[in-house]
Amino acid sequence: MENEKKQLHCISCKVDITNLTGSVVFDCPSCDKTKIIRCNNCRDRAVKYKCPECGFEGPN
Ligand SMILES: [Zn+2]
Ligand SMILES: [Zn+2]
Repeated sequence: MENEKKQLHCISCKVDITNLTGSVVFDCPSCDKTKIIRCNNCRDRAVKYKCPECGFEGPN
């Protein structure tokens, strides 16, 4: 079992966002089951992410 509360990593680049400002966490807009975590850097560069649950892709 993983501790999901304190281990927050960007879904795209896997960086630990715990100490990063400007990162965002939101539910997958498609399946609403997965937390999508994005760091400031990936948001800035519009790096794609993919939901591991439903395969939804997007920067939005
Ligand atoms: Zn990132
Ligand atoms: Zn999803």
